[in-house]
Amino acid sequence: MTPSSTSTPSGTALPARQEHLLDVLRQADDEISGQDLHARLRAGEGAMGLATVYRHLRQLQQRGLVRCRHLPSGEALFAPTERDEHHLTCVDCGHTLRLPHCPVHGLELPTTHLEGFRPLFHTLEFFGLCANCQRRQAQTAPRL
Ligand SMILES: [Zn+2]
Ligand SMILES: [Zn+2]
Repeated sequence: MTPSSTSTPSGTALPARQEHLLDVLRQADDEISGQDLHARLRAGEGAMGLATVYRHLRQLQQRGLVRCRHLPSGEALFAPTERDEHHLTCVDCGHTLRLPHCPVHGLELPTTHLEGFRPLFHTLEFFGLCANCQRRQAQTAPRL
């Protein structure tokens, strides 16, 4: 399901550069950083400066087409909102696990609570300790 042209929630057509950016995000099999996106564009026809990439990403987020996730390292990762994916991240080593399905898929907010808002997308993140870090912590824990 890759439509050839994307219309925004407000019904207006997407600028060609944002359309192209969105295509690259769709083709990536996982989330990618702005730097990574910039590098992929540079390899093809849609080369643009890094600042321009971030500006378009911000506009795509405002249109509800792209969401952004920040890793504990501070790195920001981008993905199309149509791909409803969430992650579990280790707070110690940063290891990330992609969840097999969205636990809140299809959840609707009661319109009476929205004060006129039109919901566009959601983000949801889980944090924990991975198996390796739990094992390491158990080994180094002082014995009482
Ligand atoms: Zn870990
Ligand atoms: Zn979800």
